[in-house]
Amino acid sequence: MSDNDITTKLVHAGERRPLPDAQPVSTPIYATATFTYDSMQEIDQVFGGEKQGFIYTRYGNPTLAALEEAIREVEEGATACAYATGMAAIHAALIACDLKTGSTVLASQDLYGATTGLLNTVLSNFGVKTVHVDFSDLTLVREKAREIHPQVLIAETISNPLLKVCNIEACVEIARENGARLIIDNTFATPYLSQPLKLGADMVVHSATKYLGGHADAMGGLVISRDEMDSNALVSVMKLVGGVLGVWEAHEILRGLKTLAVRMDRQCENTRALANYLNEHQAIARVHHPGLGALVSIELRDDTKDATFRFMNALKLIVRSTSLGDVFTSVLHPATSSHRDLLPARRRELGIVDGLIRISVGIEKVDDIIADIEQALDG
Ligand code: PLP
Repeated sequence: MSDNDITTKLVHAGERRPLPDAQPVSTPIYATATFTYDSMQEIDQVFGGEKQGFIYTRYGNPTLAALEEAIREVEEGATACAYATGMAAIHAALIACDLKTGSTVLASQDLYGATTGLLNTVLSNFGVKTVHVDFSDLTLVREKAREIHPQVLIAETISNPLLKVCNIEACVEIARENGARLIIDNTFATPYLSQPLKLGADMVVHSATKYLGGHADAMGGLVISRDEMDSNALVSVMKLVGGVLGVWEAHEILRGLKTLAVRMDRQCENTRALANYLNEHQAIARVHHPGLGALVSIELRDDTKDATFRFMNALKLIVRSTSLGDVFTSVLHPATSSHRDLLPARRRELGIVDGLIRISVGIEKVDDIIADIEQALDG
């Protein structure tokens, strides 16, 4: 090296030093696109799968592997795979279930808007048909499953924005009766409150952008499967579609996981106190809070977009933003955001009225959250 020109030294100096003997206590960010070995024979073995190792970050990376192992362990799955966003993860899970032209999906009608969009546009264009039903009506779900023979059932543990809790065990039974696989989006509940794989679900997906990261500074998605056999298909989507999670984001999410339990305890406690307050308020017609999780949705008595925007604009502490699950409290207006693209009649059918507001409760002192809502409602 020392004989080389400065131009060459600038490129190589300081790099590829031996790893330190001391173990870092937190997983380092492996900000590298590719990996080298001492010989071509070793590279050949790693490529061929005869030797464990990393080759190229789209195929795997130690920082991503640490996050995948962490979420696999807490969701008690057999295998896990990380993707760039929650949507990339949902797409990967559906594809890993081997959907093909002619396959049918039985989906909850209350899925996150983009998940419905993915099924009804992208997958529909490839000949995958989706039927949406109300998953809180299990008789209907059972009947539809018998009628359409779905390959996949998909629902959310706690639905958005009306916060209906899915009876996962009953869905597992219906899926098994029909030889279908059950995918559960566990974003709203998190593994701290619900572990769908232990109840028999086949795959769990997460928008790690929400509670797992918890700080609104990283986007990510995760799929965890109860069956090791899904590993190839999940890795294959990562390699071939390429929606790989960035290593910086993986680091943020892995760090977020460490405080998930304390954040959720505080957020759920704040949510219960806030829901009790909201239940008593004259300006509120209805409070949706299942007693589980850190979200509460309210319907204003004045069910108009104007009144709703007036209330939301008057908030001083609470943040007006899309997304949820962060350390700060935020509000969202589903009718003009997540459910904007639906026809007004379909929105009403789903219960997404103009006066509906979803509140994601943070870790602030609950008295301050309530005071902010009170001054905005009084205004
Ligand atoms: N699943 C649920 C329940 C969500 O709320 C969201 C986003 O809001 C997603 C999936 C998509 O996640 P991402 O925005 O990380 O792609």
